[in-house]
Amino acid sequence: MIRAADINGRVLYSEGKHQFIWLGADEDENDEAVQANQYLVVHNGKATLFDPGGVHLFARVASAVSQYVGLDQIESIIYSHQDPDVSSGIALWMGITKAKVYISELWVRFLPHFGIIDQSRIIAIEKTGRRLPTEAGLQFVPAHFLHSTGNFTVYDQAAKALFSADIGTAVFEKSTQYLFVEDFEKHVPLMEPFHRRYMASNIALRKWVEIVSRLDVKMILPQHGALFQDAMVGRFLAWLKELKCGVDLIDSIYEA
Ligand code: FE
Repeated sequence: MIRAADINGRVLYSEGKHQFIWLGADEDENDEAVQANQYLVVHNGKATLFDPGGVHLFARVASAVSQYVGLDQIESIIYSHQDPDVSSGIALWMGITKAKVYISELWVRFLPHFGIIDQSRIIAIEKTGRRLPTEAGLQFVPAHFLHSTGNFTVYDQAAKALFSADIGTAVFEKSTQYLFVEDFEKHVPLMEPFHRRYMASNIALRKWVEIVSRLDVKMILPQHGALFQDAMVGRFLAWLKELKCGVDLIDSIYEA
């Protein structure tokens, strides 16, 4: 179970000057919004924030970040894609930090609709992804159509951790959430409906699994739901590789 002590998060990896931090659970379980995880990488005192979330999460996430670094230490904010639960708080984050913001080149021109007029701090990620131009050793891993048309996951070489955005999302009943997947078979029913409806196709999944399989991954960290470590990483990738979803199941979507 997620504990009250987890409100401010947990350090998932710490070695030398490098930390990978999960930023905690939402306190208000009555909230109708989808539960969301945020993550922070701190390297040499400079921080990168992953999918800090929508407007209604801003106060909690800013407070959680402040347990670890000052807001002025955030040099990069990465948005995996354009969804409101990922990026609708962008104007607040750009106001309170000096960070550069990374998002797929396909979504840059949509950001003015979230209140971003000055685009000088926005950096478009090209379709093949790339290494971030910071010292932290972070690398974009393309995850196109999983689920967004222009979608990126992020690999941390030092922590051997892969932030997987919406890939790996699990939807829990209220008050049943746990932080790490321990029983994979029991976890599948929490992931399956979301992946079958939101992910574009098995072709897209296989492409991502193929790229990820070339990396040394010890943790897969989704934006929603529970975290995969060690043996669960392989179980999860094997499950994804065989999953039919999206347009593979197009007829079933139109059935009454
Ligand atoms: Fe999304």
